[in-house]
Amino acid sequence: MSDLTLILLAAGNSSRFKVPVKKQWLRIGHDPLWLFVTNRITKMVSFANVIVVAHPEELPFMRSMCDITLVAGGSTRQDSLRNALSQVDTPYVLVSDIARACIDSTVLTRLITARELADCIVPTLGVNDTIVYGDDTIVRESIKRIQTPQLSRTTILRLALDTTQEYTDESSAIVAHGGTRHYVEGDIRADKITRIDDLRALECLGSPAAMTFTGNGFDVHPFEEGKQMVLGGVEIESSYGFKAHSDGDVAIHALIDALLGAACMGDIGMLFPDTDEDYKNIDSKVLLTRCVEKIHAFGFVIAHADITVIAQVPKIGPYKEQMRKTLAPLMGLSPSRLNIKATTTEHLGFIGRKEGVGVMATASLHYFDWING
Ligand code: MG
Repeated sequence: MSDLTLILLAAGNSSRFKVPVKKQWLRIGHDPLWLFVTNRITKMVSFANVIVVAHPEELPFMRSMCDITLVAGGSTRQDSLRNALSQVDTPYVLVSDIARACIDSTVLTRLITARELADCIVPTLGVNDTIVYGDDTIVRESIKRIQTPQLSRTTILRLALDTTQEYTDESSAIVAHGGTRHYVEGDIRADKITRIDDLRALECLGSPAAMTFTGNGFDVHPFEEGKQMVLGGVEIESSYGFKAHSDGDVAIHALIDALLGAACMGDIGMLFPDTDEDYKNIDSKVLLTRCVEKIHAFGFVIAHADITVIAQVPKIGPYKEQMRKTLAPLMGLSPSRLNIKATTTEHLGFIGRKEGVGVMATASLHYFDWING
């Protein structure tokens, strides 16, 4: 039985990544990067437990993809690590970032073999460049680049992190706490990835799967006298609007459900509960924008959408073009990839009796092609 737990930190905001997709959700085949890296490391080494630390909002989506122990991250790397350490019951812990995507098994073996030599085992690399501090040239042989993953004694690391002082790696915290550090040879493949070009240079990562995902959505709202009617993001001339917690834009609601359906991300009620006062009378375009941001962050781009408005009244024809031009940019989509059509029910049913409007929507997504941009 292994005496080692793996903690993978995947709660970052990818602020230096400059693409709409969060780093941890870039797809390698179908797997998001966090799952790809977890599977890769656990194939090389046997662990007693594996803990992935994630952004709290992402946990439900991650749970649907794996049986790994998932822990909510904090506001800093150190907070996230403390949260994860509270779940560890082995004497040793290996901590890595999902950004170190292509770590080689030889580094892991060096760390594990050396684990009894100090409180923290650290991979390091030398520097080949000339290093200057102020006007002084530093003897570069004395410089070490500290890498992760690092292997620590769990109890010492817990004590070392019980401080308000922030450290950028475990070994610095352990040494500041009076513990010991042992160096092993690092590997260029364990260098930290902060920009998407760094990731593109890694050979262990394959392309995202070339697949299209389709979702559908359906919504109905009854009419309400004396309210502004908004449909497809456009104000419609009418003496009544839609009864709803939000502005009642039934077309956008169906579209959001179609998008979430294609991404397997639940439905509009999960994302924006109508019990939440924040969403009272909210402009549904704001909801669509937030939904699209989330879909992009999770590794998808929108390829196409098709909306069918089922209404006896009002007449939709004069507004279709304006709806396309309003909604398409909110989805990062050319208007030529968004279709709006309308039909009546030939006076049948509640729609035919002019009591409300129904909308069906279909949307297609594919994975963001992070390799070719
Ligand atoms: Mg609705």
